[in-house]
Amino acid sequence: MKRVLNFIGGELRPPSAGGYLPDVDPATGEEIARVADSDASDVDAAVAAASRAFPAWRKTAAEERSRLLMRLADLVEENFDELALLESQDSGKPVALARRLDVPRAIRNFRFFATAILHAETRCHPMDGEALNYTLRQPVGVAGLISPWNLPLYLLTWKIAPAVAAGNCCVAKPSELTPLTADRLAELVREAEIPPGVVNVVHGRGAAAGRALTSHPGVPLISFTGGTKTGADVMAAAGPLFKKVSLELGGKNPNIVFADADLEAAVATSISSSFANQGEICLCGSRIFVERTIYDEFLDRFVEKTKNLRVGDPRDPATEVGALISEAHLRKVAGYLDLAKEEGGRILCGGRRPPELPGRLAGGAFLEPAVVVGLECSGRVMQEEIFGPVVTVTPFDSPDEAVAYANGSRYGLSASVWTRDLAKAHRVAAAIDCGTVWVNTWLLRDLRVPFGGMKESGVGREGGFDSLDFFTEAKNVCIKL
Ligand code: NDP
Repeated sequence: MKRVLNFIGGELRPPSAGGYLPDVDPATGEEIARVADSDASDVDAAVAAASRAFPAWRKTAAEERSRLLMRLADLVEENFDELALLESQDSGKPVALARRLDVPRAIRNFRFFATAILHAETRCHPMDGEALNYTLRQPVGVAGLISPWNLPLYLLTWKIAPAVAAGNCCVAKPSELTPLTADRLAELVREAEIPPGVVNVVHGRGAAAGRALTSHPGVPLISFTGGTKTGADVMAAAGPLFKKVSLELGGKNPNIVFADADLEAAVATSISSSFANQGEICLCGSRIFVERTIYDEFLDRFVEKTKNLRVGDPRDPATEVGALISEAHLRKVAGYLDLAKEEGGRILCGGRRPPELPGRLAGGAFLEPAVVVGLECSGRVMQEEIFGPVVTVTPFDSPDEAVAYANGSRYGLSASVWTRDLAKAHRVAAAIDCGTVWVNTWLLRDLRVPFGGMKESGVGREGGFDSLDFFTEAKNVCIKL
């Protein structure tokens, strides 16, 4: 069986304590690899390798850093099919989605930051003939990068690319549930001839390897994407060491459909925003609010389309909904459907294991997408992040009520608004407390824009020069004239 090893100082190394964790294909329930169960000593070794590489890497010209990252992007592209398959097998997502979203985005991440650093500018503050101030932006050192299982390669490269482009070295800790594309990426880093130690990958559990990274005194910066509760742990570990921290956390995003919307487009995109990647995307619009005058029509069309989604083998290119990340996660998601009934809700469709799956998938973590109505906005089902193929639909009567529902959450990551009335779109977008508002669309991402969450959805912004700012320290130089 394949063993996923750590990548430290340009070499693949077994975990120092010799332990491994099972890596399971969630579509079959079968073990497909064993992944290094690393501890603090492995993290120490990776931080030491990154620290050794840093003095030379920070001095490497931006053009050369750019060339190496462009080479890495090319290698990811050359291995597109293999990476898409690995991602699908490891996470349960449809291979079609991995081909459409995950791998292309990984390539874009590297190309985007490889070229962004060639256009970096800095600020100058002249003091009326007395002095001149200018701002230097310098790399921070060793960056700790912690990423989740839902978009493994997409989110890992969203961190590695700006960190390394800006002149830092890094130690990445992917989710131990989905280590395969990070492992393949490590091999491609070596093939791209990025100097040893610039990129290191340590696999293992969050509570051991992740914790060791967030509390390591040699790691002055942490970029974390994951659940809100884990984010609080990360902050608690990093705070006393005064690390720079960026947290991209959970969401319970509203999707507001006004009566004047293009209904066909709203329904079609709401299917994606509810159930893409089995609903396991932080940006999924899991709370749909529909203006009462079109509520019944929206619901009829939406439920009809939900029932027609093809749930099944992630390897089948026609599959639209694959397996959830694990049996344990499926139980958690299904538990919310039981809770929905207790809270007085009605499940209009889905919520069962699909009855007709081939034998190979008998042990897989599959769940038919579910639509729930009749819930109070203040109940747990409408307040807690479920992170699965479950969506609630609720009517509203006025824009103010829709905004109040949208903001009645401790999360504030993103929102979608559907309307043909531009003035209303502007007003509602400005009133919702969240980091991103999409109007008449969803998940349309321009990598230059600020990305992040308000409230319990995160701290800080990444994207474009916000990422490069985060991965550098600003230093003012004041010259007396
Ligand atoms: P977790 O918070 O459980 O884990 C995220 C990462 O942190 C994993 O690598 C995990 O390792 C590690 N980790 C766990 N505990 C610690 C710790 N104490 N110290 C340091 N690292 C730790 O999230 P999931 O993997 O379950 O991902 C789903 C969550 O991610 C959802 O809440 C989702 O909303 C959020 N997310 C947010 C995004 C955003 O941009 N805002 C984007 C995508 C997802 P291990 O796997 O071993 O536990």
